[in-house]
Amino acid sequence: MSKKTTSWTENYPCPVCGSHQQMTRGTGERCHGYESSNGRWAFCARDEHADGVERNLDGLGKHALGRTCPCGADHGAGGARVLRPAARGGFVEAYHYCDESGNTLYAVERYADKSFFVTRPDPRDPSKWISGLGEVRRVPFNLPNVIKAVEQGHTVYITEGEKDALAVNPIRGDVTATCNLGGAGKWRDEYSRHLEGADVVIVADDDEVGARPRTGASSPRPLYLTECLLIGPKENAA
Ligand SMILES: [Zn+2]
Ligand SMILES: [Zn+2]
Repeated sequence: MSKKTTSWTENYPCPVCGSHQQMTRGTGERCHGYESSNGRWAFCARDEHADGVERNLDGLGKHALGRTCPCGADHGAGGARVLRPAARGGFVEAYHYCDESGNTLYAVERYADKSFFVTRPDPRDPSKWISGLGEVRRVPFNLPNVIKAVEQGHTVYITEGEKDALAVNPIRGDVTATCNLGGAGKWRDEYSRHLEGADVVIVADDDEVGARPRTGASSPRPLYLTECLLIGPKENAA
């Protein structure tokens, strides 16, 4: 399976230095590094962040994602994309579903034609990706951040999709968002235990499916939620 690394862009900057390759050359601010195809490493071009890390042949600092980095920092779980040959109108983005430690359990690839493809690291060779979920443990999206948010008493939003979940975080620093594989109506009880004790806001899309409780037809909300505020659909809003 051919895979490429992902260069840092304005929308997906280097998690080490916060810069990307479209910034002005020669100012010392640009980072022409990239993320490894398996999402486990961030290569950063900025020397001031490279203490304690290995360098690759191009002199880029090799920083660990999803676990404590040898430079001493935590660069986050890594939003690595699994790049594939152009297909289905072209690859757009991959959303990684990670365990508590930020290791990818499975990923959802989104394509320009709005199709999705589920893939996971091959248990026999984690540097390879194979299709489907297999027997892999299911977790809510963005789990490492959800765990942190619950510990810190922050509100957790449940959106219908990964893109929305990622969009919530920059709005306010004290909120975190999650979602589940498959969208509305596919929430599983096993996800709820990660939200125990949290204030949860369910964000529904403006459509019929979105108005359905995310927790399944039989229970209007997960048992653990202390607060559950349903937002939308829009025609019900005051
Ligand atoms: Zn960098
Ligand atoms: Zn680092």
